[in-house]
Amino acid sequence: MADALRIGIAGLGTVGAALIKVLQTRSELLTVSCGRAIDVVAVSARDRSRDRGFDASDFQWFDDATELARTADIDVFVELMGGNGDPAYSSVKAALSRGLHVVTANKALLARHGVELAGLAEQNGAILNFEAAVAGGIPVIKALRESLTGNTVNRVYGIMNGTCNYILTRMEKEGLTFEACLKEAQRLGYAEADPAFDIEGNDTAHKLSILTTLAFGTQIAADDIYLEGITNISLDDILAAADLGYRIKLLGVAQKTASGIEQRVHPTMVPQDSVIAQVDGVTNAVAIESDVLGELLMVGPGAGGNATASAVMGDIADIAKSHPGAQLVPSLGRPAKQLAPYKRGEIQSHEGGYFIRLTVEDRTGVFASVATRMAENSISLESIVQRPKKHDDKAERQTIILVTHATTEQSVRRAVGAIKTEGYLIGEPQVIRIERPKAA
Ligand code: NAP
Repeated sequence: MADALRIGIAGLGTVGAALIKVLQTRSELLTVSCGRAIDVVAVSARDRSRDRGFDASDFQWFDDATELARTADIDVFVELMGGNGDPAYSSVKAALSRGLHVVTANKALLARHGVELAGLAEQNGAILNFEAAVAGGIPVIKALRESLTGNTVNRVYGIMNGTCNYILTRMEKEGLTFEACLKEAQRLGYAEADPAFDIEGNDTAHKLSILTTLAFGTQIAADDIYLEGITNISLDDILAAADLGYRIKLLGVAQKTASGIEQRVHPTMVPQDSVIAQVDGVTNAVAIESDVLGELLMVGPGAGGNATASAVMGDIADIAKSHPGAQLVPSLGRPAKQLAPYKRGEIQSHEGGYFIRLTVEDRTGVFASVATRMAENSISLESIVQRPKKHDDKAERQTIILVTHATTEQSVRRAVGAIKTEGYLIGEPQVIRIERPKAA
C-alpha cells in the first residue's frame, strides 16, 4: 500500500472540526477507497485551548497557519479559515509554492485570487481543489470541471445561499415579514449577526463568479456581477407571485448572451411547478444547461459542518488517489493562462419576462396609462391585474401587477421610468425578473 497522505488543516471551526471527526470515524473506509491512509498530522487555529470535540494533542500545533503551510511535513494543506486576505491567502500561496496540494472551502479567497492561485498550482505541479466553496456538499465544481468536459454550457444558475432561501421560504409558507424571518434565521444560527453579506447577495456572487469561470472558461470577474439582494422583497410580492403561479428565489445566474456573459444575482420569479421552485429552506440547488447533456439539476445541503466536510473529504480523497507524475486536471477547468478575458453581458440587454408591481392612485385612466406605457416600449403582457383596495386601506390607492412576455431590461426600465413621470405612482415600483428553467 502507498504511504499515508499527510495533511495539515488550518482552521478548526465549524468545517475544520467536522472534517477531523469525519476523517477519524471513516479512516478504514477512506484507506480502502483511496488505497492509502489519510493522516492528519498538523493543525492551526487561533485559540489552542478551545474544546473542539476532538483531541488536538495528537497533532502538531501551529499558532501561525502560514508557518504550518511553509514548514510542516505534509502533502496537503487544507485551508478552512475563510476570508480573502491573510492568513488564508498567504498560507495557500506558501503551500502551493512548495508544491503542496491545497484543498480550500473559501469562496471569498477564490473569487479574489482564484486565477493567480490556480496558476501557482499549475507552475508547481500541485492540485488546488475547492469543491466546498460553492453550494457546500453539492459536487458542482467536479461536474463542471470534469464530468461535463466537451459540453458547451449555455447557462448555470442556482440557489446558493441557504440564509436567503430560508427567509424567502418562511415568508411564503408562514406569511411572515422579511424582518421576522431574518430574526428567526439568526436565532436558529442560519444567519450571521451581521447578515448583510448573505441578504445583499454578495455570498451568492462570490460563488457565481467561480461557476462562471468553470462554465465559460473566462477569468474570474467577481466585481462584474449585477447584484440585488432580497431586502426589498415584501410579503406582497411573494403573495402576488404565488397567485400568478411563481415563487421568488434569490438566484445567481450566469448565461452566455450575444453581448457577453451575463452574471447576475437577484430575486427571481421561477414557475411554481419547476423543480428549483420546490427547493426550500437552507437547501441549495445548482442547474447547468449544456448542449450535449441538456439540463442537470443538483439539489442538496449547501452549508453546515458535515455537508461541507464531506466535500472537503472528497477533494482530499481525489488527491490521495491521484498518481504522482500524472497530468493534473487544471483547477479552473483549463490552464489559468488560457482563461479568456471576461466580457460582461450588460444587464440592460438582458432578455426575459418581468413581474412589475405598481402602487398607484385609485383614479380613472391609470390602468390604461400603464398599459400604454408598456405598449410604447414594445412590451407584450402575459397578464395585467388590478388588485382591489383592501377594506381597511383608507388611502385611495390600488395595486397593478403586470407579467410581461420576454422583453429587454432596457425596455422595462424605460417603461417604468415613463410611468414614474405620470404622477399617479405611490412609492417605488417593484420589478422582479422571471427565470424559466429550460424544460418549463
Ligand atoms: P469558522 O467556524 O469561523 O472557523 C474558522 C476557523 O479558522 C476557526 O477555527 C478559527 O480559529 C480559524 N482562524 C481564523 N483566523 C485564523 C488565523 N488568523 N489563524 C489561524 N486560524 C484562524 O468558519 P467555518 O464556518 O468553519 O468556515 C471555514 C471556511 O469554510 C470558510 O472559508 C467558509 O466560507 C467555508 N464554508 C463554510 C461553510 C459552513 O457551512 N460553515 C460552508 C461552505 C464553505 P479559532 O477556532 O481558534 O477561532
